[in-house]
Amino acid sequence: QVGDERANLIPRYVRVNTNLWSVEEAVRSLLESGMHLGDPFQTITDFAKDEHVPDLLLFSPKKTFHDHAAYKSGKLILQDKASCFPPLVLNPPSSHNAVVIDATAAPGNKTTYLSALMHNKGKLYAFERDKRRFQTLKTMVAKATCKNVHPVNDDFLAVDANDETYGNATHILLDPSCSGSGIVNRLDYLLETEEENDSKEERLAKLASFQLMMIKHAMKFPHVQRIVYSTCSVHSTENEHVVREALASDECRAGKFTLAPRESVLPSWSRRGIAAEMEGSQGDAQGLIRCLPGEDATNGFFVSCFMRGSEEGQINK
Ligand code: SAM
Repeated sequence: QVGDERANLIPRYVRVNTNLWSVEEAVRSLLESGMHLGDPFQTITDFAKDEHVPDLLLFSPKKTFHDHAAYKSGKLILQDKASCFPPLVLNPPSSHNAVVIDATAAPGNKTTYLSALMHNKGKLYAFERDKRRFQTLKTMVAKATCKNVHPVNDDFLAVDANDETYGNATHILLDPSCSGSGIVNRLDYLLETEEENDSKEERLAKLASFQLMMIKHAMKFPHVQRIVYSTCSVHSTENEHVVREALASDECRAGKFTLAPRESVLPSWSRRGIAAEMEGSQGDAQGLIRCLPGEDATNGFFVSCFMRGSEEGQINK
């Protein structure tokens, strides 16, 4: 499933790093360089503004940016469209006293976008447990001039939810290790948790139980209002089923957290969660986002959002 022909249907997506540049400045600069604002599948010189993500531009899949001055200076960041959805859905605050956690941050695409959405203000703690990937995260955060990001080389599961610093987080992004089964255009995708002797089902079950553990841990943070859980997997085992299990947890059954409804989860995106896979749960699949490679001009992706709800008796409803 890696590097297949569906990759040709995915435009080259480029996010304008609004910590350094505005979309208007980026468009002006591209026009001045001889490009046309048009249909990127028509000519190599065309680019367009994305209809769902305000800071995203799209180009021909063949367009390269590695030598482009704006890419080298961190003003433009190469990022798949679907990968922009979780930060947008998290909708982090941008005040000076904001506290946000990116629990699984490297290489840092979503961290840098969160930083920009926070207008480079407040505190964004970016956890990454892997030493090597942590270095990549630090490099990316520095290149994108994120002043509000505090990278932490630690396991998010080991963080005390009542810690005097991290315990103030109101928004948590969880984009944990997954099977990567939705990725069709990245030959270098590495699954860190893969164990060669496991069958596919065993592997997915292990990933799902880890993913659920991450959601449950995030729900322990006393001030958290919004938790976004995302994967680049197309398997329901890692997506709807994990959400279903989280909704069956004590925290959700007691009404502390509910699944956010469609209106607060990028309502204009038409492909939603798979209703049959959510059967018997308290959550509505309309509140979930799915992206299908080959159909949605993105890689395969899944996004969900839990909101702190009323704590009054939702048990057994
Ligand atoms: N959000 C990243 C981005 O958009 O660039 C991609 C995250 S990648 C899918 C998952 C990352 O989470 C990996 O780098 C992995 O090492 C890290 N990770 C997995 N479990 C973790 C944990 N318990 N605490 C912190 N980081 C973890």
